[in-house]
Amino acid sequence: MGHSVPLPLIRVLATGGTIAGAQTDRERGYRAAAFSVDALIAAVPQLATLAQIEVEQVAAIGSQDMDDATWLRLAARTQAALDSPAVAGVVITHGTDTMEETAFFLNLVVRSEKPVVLVGAMRPATAISADGPMNLYNALAVAAHPATRGRGVLVVANDEIHFAREIAKTNTTQVGTFASGHRGLAGLVNAGRLHLYAPPVRRHTAASEFSPLAAAAAGAQRLPRVDIVYAHAGMGRELIDAAVKAGARGLVIAGMGDGNLGAVALAAAAEAAKAGVAVVRSSRAGGGVVERNIEVDDDALGFIAADELNPQKARVLLLLGLTRTGDPRALQDLFFAY
Ligand code: ASP
Repeated sequence: MGHSVPLPLIRVLATGGTIAGAQTDRERGYRAAAFSVDALIAAVPQLATLAQIEVEQVAAIGSQDMDDATWLRLAARTQAALDSPAVAGVVITHGTDTMEETAFFLNLVVRSEKPVVLVGAMRPATAISADGPMNLYNALAVAAHPATRGRGVLVVANDEIHFAREIAKTNTTQVGTFASGHRGLAGLVNAGRLHLYAPPVRRHTAASEFSPLAAAAAGAQRLPRVDIVYAHAGMGRELIDAAVKAGARGLVIAGMGDGNLGAVALAAAAEAAKAGVAVVRSSRAGGGVVERNIEVDDDALGFIAADELNPQKARVLLLLGLTRTGDPRALQDLFFAY
């Protein structure tokens, strides 16, 4: 009789989202986070062929309600799981609305080579042809596979594996919502079979310098306030002034095109930067690089260029950067490193 190799132990941390959603009427409405993690696991008996599973319900929210305190708690629970020698990897069930922000946050604060895989669904668990069960199966296969170590935090959906830094939600409702436009996919996963592509080149997880978990352990519930201001034709300065007045330490501009603002708003942003608020120029365009000093004189105005990060990701990096420095030059270096 041969010895069978025990399956890897994966801890599943649940936070809610549509993957745990239940329809409230037959055609349209649904409520996110209606089902517990136990119910989600029980609905896919095939998971037991991939891994031994431990579960923990960290939150039960639609991810539009994700906030600093929940991020810090989730990061702490993820780190605790990864620090357990018995655990091979972590799967996190999460709503798709802020999936990219949570994934990037964890990618910057979690210290481990072990895989961390976020997974969600676009259709609630009770829908016809719900996408959650296969996504969960694939996510578990990715987390249980030794080759996914060292690739940073990943997201699995619709048979694709995305890097936390690259993924963006690009469609309101369709199952193919996620795209990784700049540097491409981390891989594909077909019914649990992995096809992995090149690993990420920017710093993440074990090589990251951010450590808000120590602050959280000391009781901190909040991260530095960073607001996003969306630019548009005919924009005034009022929203920028209001953010500064509300105590923002950082401001991300979802700029037009190459991170641009009209003259009125630009003057307000320049005043904010002069007053010590970190101003990052990102773009509302949905793709491309925002470089320094192209149409805006970042050197003179003290701005930071977001490089490849979309506004919501730039916000995550900026708020973590502000836990270490307020110097725009040092913050700019972070946008080229992560
Ligand atoms: N609003 C939901 C959420 O982000 C959408 C989803 O999960 O797909 O929790």
